[in-house]
Amino acid sequence: MQIVKIPLTIDPIKAAKMRSTYSGVIEASFLSRLLGASAGFCSDIQVQFSCDTDEHGTVTVNGHAQGEVSLTCQRCMKDFNENLQVKFSYSPLTKPSEEEELPDKYDPVEVDEHGHIEIAKLVEDEFIVSIPFFPMHSVEDCSVKEQDTTVGKIDDSVEERPNPFAVLQNLKK
Ligand SMILES: [Zn+2]
Repeated sequence: MQIVKIPLTIDPIKAAKMRSTYSGVIEASFLSRLLGASAGFCSDIQVQFSCDTDEHGTVTVNGHAQGEVSLTCQRCMKDFNENLQVKFSYSPLTKPSEEEELPDKYDPVEVDEHGHIEIAKLVEDEFIVSIPFFPMHSVEDCSVKEQDTTVGKIDDSVEERPNPFAVLQNLKK
């Protein structure tokens, strides 16, 4: 399958007039900030979005994206790969005063001096924000078991461990 890179920036107003849709990838090599927020790995991001004008004449950029990052489980401290999915709905602002009139369902994005928005960066931001504050394996995948469901097992494993005092006893001999 051919990999299509999406443009890093788009002119959303022009794209909305043409009702453009985009489907492709943002390459991992571009995602240095997401990589920095991960435990050392992030995949290419698959993204689809369309530019349009809603019934009130508001220009919109709607889409969704998915990708994989490595995170460190805060229960067992091992890394695991997490599939992240985000949805977004932006509306470009040509001047800041437009923000007040914008319906809540759209996230305002200011266009630059060329009328462009940095769509790839915006999507990367969505991923960074979607990383859980306290990442953890699902219970069945985690090497540390939930205490309340497996009390008996934890007690068994404690008994299997060498008693630290036994080591001290040996040293005294
Ligand atoms: Zn874990």
